[in-house]
Amino acid sequence: MVGSRVGHILIQSVASLSDLFFPRICVVCGSHLEAGKRYLCPECEDDIPLTYFWSWEANPAEARLQALFPAQRACSLFIYRNDSGYSHLIHNFKYKADINLGKKLASLLAEYMISGGRFEDIEAVVSVPLHPIKKWQRGFNQSDIIGRQLASVFQQYYGHTIIFEPNLVRRKRYTRSQTKAADRTANMAGAFQLDKNAIRRFNILGIKKILLVDDVLTTGSTIASIASVIGDSIDISVATLGFVE
Ligand SMILES: [Zn+2]
Repeated sequence: MVGSRVGHILIQSVASLSDLFFPRICVVCGSHLEAGKRYLCPECEDDIPLTYFWSWEANPAEARLQALFPAQRACSLFIYRNDSGYSHLIHNFKYKADINLGKKLASLLAEYMISGGRFEDIEAVVSVPLHPIKKWQRGFNQSDIIGRQLASVFQQYYGHTIIFEPNLVRRKRYTRSQTKAADRTANMAGAFQLDKNAIRRFNILGIKKILLVDDVLTTGSTIASIASVIGDSIDISVATLGFVE
């Protein structure tokens, strides 16, 4: 007990020292953070433009997705605007590879989703795949980080297994015609394919309700094209960190 307290104090001191040499700043407003604080100052933490979709039936994310396919429920952590400082939360995670920030945001989303009580029946979490070239450039798929964290927090809370499956759907390689932006949009419906092994595992385990995860929900067209290859036999709910109004 004493040992762990000493260890804790030691970690605190090391954290304070590193704060001294590498002062941390709030990713939203740029103000200096107190020792031990990470990412957000107290004011910006209080002001996160939360969506509250976790406790809101027929919320705007659900309406947007249900116009495209028979989506079950949908939920995002915060309203995403390019011109808002809160966009840095996603940018630092994706483009500066701040994986811890991504996990922290996903944990926060998971806690809100649990508190809302609308996602208790989820059996597996599935991430939206990144194109292999992008994944190679970035080094990771941000949706995998979010999805794995959501599954882990849900599992801890609900006390039963919630599978994380990053390979249920794959992106097809671009064909030459798809490299033109206009063609790419037109071909979006054919951009994904199911992974036979993953769907076999789902069938063996009897998984019928999944949570499909992405970083930001914009038009919903990517999610809808994935839903079209998954088909009607599996209920699809959706969770993202950001929601573009
Ligand atoms: Zn701030």
